[in-house]
Amino acid sequence: METKEVEVGSSKNLALVAHDNRKPDLLAWAERNRETLARHRLYATGTTGHKLSAQLEMEVHSLLSGPMGGDQQLGARIAEGEIDLLIFFWDPLDAQPHDPDVKALLRIAAVWNIPVACNEASADFLFSSSFLNQTYTRRVPDYSSYLKART
Ligand code: PGA
Repeated sequence: METKEVEVGSSKNLALVAHDNRKPDLLAWAERNRETLARHRLYATGTTGHKLSAQLEMEVHSLLSGPMGGDQQLGARIAEGEIDLLIFFWDPLDAQPHDPDVKALLRIAAVWNIPVACNEASADFLFSSSFLNQTYTRRVPDYSSYLKART
């Protein structure tokens, strides 16, 4: 598929999600990265978002809870170009009722070429990247050429 470039600003839209067993780890990680998080706009699934905003005392755009559709809402925002980076502390040791949604979220993040961290070490690496606080040119699928090829 053909691709095109999109310019991502220095202040980004960050999505944060954690499964229940991983929420304490995400909250601790967010506390350590509070200053960096404050430079960006934060989005999250429902419970994760409410916990983050209570702890950090920052605005977090909280969507529905993950099992109620919040992962799909985040996926839609990624497809619409509204999310620049995803930090998703998913639980690899416990079954989730909304497992198809989890897979779909990770898939759509790969389609739209956004950086994804699925654990604390990856989140540390992403947050130590100079791209986080600079503009970045991201390559994305060119939907108009995709459409043309299929019609
Ligand atoms: P939650 O959803 O933030 O509402 O707990 C996260 C998830 O399970 O995907």
